[in-house]
Amino acid sequence: MTKCDTITQKRRHYFFLNPYQNAAFTKCPKCDSKTKIRKFPLVIHIDPQQLFLFNKQCRYCTRCDLIIAGKSELESLMATVFEKLNPQIIGNDYLVMGVAERSDWQESKKGKLSEGETIERMIVFKDVWNFEFIPAGWYRDHEH
Ligand SMILES: [Zn+2]
Repeated sequence: MTKCDTITQKRRHYFFLNPYQNAAFTKCPKCDSKTKIRKFPLVIHIDPQQLFLFNKQCRYCTRCDLIIAGKSELESLMATVFEKLNPQIIGNDYLVMGVAERSDWQESKKGKLSEGETIERMIVFKDVWNFEFIPAGWYRDHEH
């Protein structure tokens, strides 16, 4: 038996699941610098007990170490995949837990990595952030 408290889980990156379909976040919502497009092998846990790895194109701010993934994009991808694999879980709660190391992602694609190993080796997000998106436009000051 392995003791859970002896495993030091790697932690890296901040994560934002972007619920706004009309906001691409070409600029970082935190520091305002330009974000890059980069692929990350996201590790997603779907209730009740399904692990899903997907190498997804995300927005990434190098300065903040922030990964931004489109929520609706991700959900439609998962629906497509699980339509055949396991249609019952479509629509269930899910959590993007972190990312897999690139080498682990390759292994898991070949079916060489168990779910337990994937979780053990994955990089958990340091934190998950939320941002409110305010569309560009003219706004009146709130009158008090
Ligand atoms: Zn930033």
